[in-house]
Amino acid sequence: MNTDFDVIICGGGLAGLTLARQLRRELPQASLAVVEPTERPLPVACHKVGESSVEMGTHYLAEIAGLKDYLDASHLHKNGLRFFSGPAGTPLHERTELGPSEPPIVPSYQMDRGQLENDLRQILIDEGVTLFEGWVVKDIELTGADEAQRVHLFNKADRTEKVLTGRWAVDSTGRRQLLQRKLGFRRPFDNDQSSAWFRVNRRLKVGELVPEDKTRWHQRDVDDNRWLSTVHLMGQGYWVWLIPLSSGMTSIGIVADEKNQPFATYSSEEKARAWIAKNETELDAWLRDVPFEDFKMLEGYSYTTTQAFSADRWACVGEAAAFVDPFYSPGSDFIGLANCFTAELIREDLETGSVDPVRAQMLNDIYLSWADQMGEVLVNNGSIFPHHDVLGAKLWWDFFVYWTFMCPYFFRRAYRLPAAELAPFHDLGLRYNRLNHLAQELFTAWADLKTVTLNPGRPFTPLPMFPSTLADQHLELLEDRSIEHTLERMTTDIALTEELLVESLMLALRGVGPENGAEFARRIDLASWDIAPSPERVRIDSLPRRERRELLSTLARDLERALGRWAGDLVPMPDLLTNAGISAKNPIKSNKNESNTLPQSNV
Ligand SMILES: Cc1cc2nc3c(=O)[nH]c(=O)nc-3n(C[C@H](O)[C@H](O)[C@H](O)COP(=O)(O)OP(=O)(O)OC[C@H]3O[C@@H](n4cnc5c(N)ncnc54)[C@H](O)[C@@H]3O)c2cc1C
Repeated sequence: MNTDFDVIICGGGLAGLTLARQLRRELPQASLAVVEPTERPLPVACHKVGESSVEMGTHYLAEIAGLKDYLDASHLHKNGLRFFSGPAGTPLHERTELGPSEPPIVPSYQMDRGQLENDLRQILIDEGVTLFEGWVVKDIELTGADEAQRVHLFNKADRTEKVLTGRWAVDSTGRRQLLQRKLGFRRPFDNDQSSAWFRVNRRLKVGELVPEDKTRWHQRDVDDNRWLSTVHLMGQGYWVWLIPLSSGMTSIGIVADEKNQPFATYSSEEKARAWIAKNETELDAWLRDVPFEDFKMLEGYSYTTTQAFSADRWACVGEAAAFVDPFYSPGSDFIGLANCFTAELIREDLETGSVDPVRAQMLNDIYLSWADQMGEVLVNNGSIFPHHDVLGAKLWWDFFVYWTFMCPYFFRRAYRLPAAELAPFHDLGLRYNRLNHLAQELFTAWADLKTVTLNPGRPFTPLPMFPSTLADQHLELLEDRSIEHTLERMTTDIALTEELLVESLMLALRGVGPENGAEFARRIDLASWDIAPSPERVRIDSLPRRERRELLSTLARDLERALGRWAGDLVPMPDLLTNAGISAKNPIKSNKNESNTLPQSNV
């Protein structure tokens, strides 16, 4: 097949530019073109949203796209995710802070998107990628199996047109979504959330929002690096991000659900200022004389897809494929995932002359399943944000699953395995999906039905706490493990994940109290669960403090050290379980996990 290029990448944002870099490194012989309407110089900071990376996205950018040295030199090292949970209007120093007590060893970055895209374009030109800057893709014409894809371009300056032929056409046009819209694959995603954001030309250190005389609060930040976190100021149905950028600017954004915080209340600069004055008074005071450098917004930002990759030599990456939600900053994770799957299919095609449609379908299914799973994690959390105890348990869970399953799968590039070898990973994935579904329902129901708070007024919840099972899981991401070892560990870790769910269930039962136990059980469909606290775990719970502590498992102790311990006169756990209907009348369905199964006779 004669073509102008092996791969034409339509759209030079984060997804398109990093895909070009990855392909340049992995397939050096392939000829590559990137088409992008905007021309340099791009504005520093005030360019795009999506400035904070987490572990998977960082691994992709640093190791797979080979940008580690560049990111280390030109962008900020991030100090993890930091949350300030509490009802709106609560002074910051009175809210519970949840986040790392020291900078994580596993890296992540705060990225200035304008600078990054300026620099990436130059890196690609230097490496021989053809950049059509100032050109718009008007249409991607997908042709038959043996014909080249035809990409129709339009030049904004001289109004000329041209057609490029490519063996592959990749849509990375972001929300323009040329192919998804043309092929009818775009699907709504049930998440009634919106956002507005702006940049200010001043560094905001979160400590500036707390009076200096709150010395204990300030002393927790011994090395003055709290501000390097992605800070989340949280209240009912919303969170506000504070992200520092290497240029000295700060990115600030409101993310909220329509039920609690209608978009119309913050959808212009004036309204956003008023909204901040109402909900985040210290931030309002700090912003009073500070001009906004830009103001952007997106109403109802979520959507998904039914197909992102095809054996017929096209793919959609980044926001041209799907976007679920920005909570925990997973945007660049999904860019990494879609880019790696696309690069796999392109490699197979260039090496063998075709792509196995079954393999393309399999990668497509994995991508869609991860988008669904992340959806369960990221949406419907508005009622949890003001409750530090529920939020703490959720963070523990979400980080644990992310660090024990999703990250190792991606870091070890398990998706490259032939289908038969991939099967055990997928079986584990199904179990993780099921447990995750139960856990997310549990956290929402716990927040909605809560009658008592675990450790009220707790100033700080370290996440991850050192040393702990969670911190170990995080650090182990840096180990260079074989795929066999990875599978072995995931199999062991699934038992720990089940244990974590049981511990979360026991915390939630205390949180909702005996009066709400039955309703809680109904909402989470507890009768259908195949795990529950073992008789031994229930017995340990009622032992005197010291004895109890000695007999608790490492994971249960770690969780308790991080979140705190119930105090006062406690209703016995067997009574709470009976209230929740775990009894002969409503038996647990299977004895799959002996250690966490509560026989009917016990209650
Ligand atoms: C509120 C919010 C907060 C977010 N926060 C984060 C975060 O903290 N961390 C994170 O990782 N992600 C975050 N994201 C997601 C992040 O914004 C995206 O993952 C990322 O910007 C997507 O990159 P992209 O390359 O797909 O799209 P873009 O960066 O939008 O790039 C698309 C490119 O295509 C070009 N284009 C458009 N039309 C055409 C055309 N017809 N022809 C040719 N080119 C075209 C555009 O000019 C643009 O350069 C957030 C998203 C939202 C909505």
